[in-house]
Amino acid sequence: MEMNVQYILLALGPIFGLFIGFEFFYLRAQQKKWATPKLSSAQYSWTDTISNGFLALMHEISDGICSVLFIMAVYGMLFEHRLFEIESSALSFIVLFLLQDFFYYWFHRASHNIRWMWASHVVHHTSQTLNLSTAFRQSLTYPISGMWLFWAPIVWIGYEPELVVGAVLLSLAYQFFIHTQLVGKLGILEKFMNTPSHHRVHHSKNPEYIDKNYAGVLIIWDKMFASFVEEREDTPCEYGITRQVKSHNPIYLTFHEWRDMFRDALKENKSLWHRLKHLWGNPSWQPEQDNEREASLITHN
Ligand SMILES: [Zn+2]
Ligand SMILES: [Zn+2]
Repeated sequence: MEMNVQYILLALGPIFGLFIGFEFFYLRAQQKKWATPKLSSAQYSWTDTISNGFLALMHEISDGICSVLFIMAVYGMLFEHRLFEIESSALSFIVLFLLQDFFYYWFHRASHNIRWMWASHVVHHTSQTLNLSTAFRQSLTYPISGMWLFWAPIVWIGYEPELVVGAVLLSLAYQFFIHTQLVGKLGILEKFMNTPSHHRVHHSKNPEYIDKNYAGVLIIWDKMFASFVEEREDTPCEYGITRQVKSHNPIYLTFHEWRDMFRDALKENKSLWHRLKHLWGNPSWQPEQDNEREASLITHN
């Protein structure tokens, strides 16, 4: 491919900006009409929005540097040892799209269930606001968490690295548009597409909603692998994370979970097993859980 795919999101920047501007002015106009404030969690605040912008920029720069440094080199090596020769056709593009979306689902599910990956992904969930600009809230540490590993199989199968990266970026571009509270349910689309409604659920910390709807573009994967939940009118979404952070500082947002994770792993009086489990276990895992389990096993015997 001639075009440098890295610039897809940058090229779409003006369109994203236009939609954000529209959402901002629409919300402000509506807010004046409502007697009681609605959608307060959608309102743009300077601190939140500027923070999102900085995080997007930091993410882009880190992604660019890491692609040049090693990601494209690894992909290049895998592609050299590819399993199949895939010719460009409508069918091969459809298969690429499905593969990318499938692996995105597992990347995202892993990001919520393995602390090493959550340390990066948590950034996206730290805001108690949800609007289009929330899509920009990304982490510069994704390359360390290993996001790129999830697309490696597609390259190894035989898709050109640039094409795979392009597919990932297009998926992220699509996902920009589902970060909004202004769009209700979209009829038949709700059945197979990841929609604003489904993604609002994903950003919520309500016990009914938490850790659900990991999809990128198609919601079918959540339905297949039992992680789908429908947004309900009687359960309004509460956005954010269970251990809520209040900071708007992009550096703090980027590194707070890494700090907490290593702090947990390096605490005194722990077995090596428990130290490692702080890295790959569930983000909420603490050694007491294992101790309690052992204690209950002993009392039951
Ligand atoms: Zn997520
Ligand atoms: Zn999101």
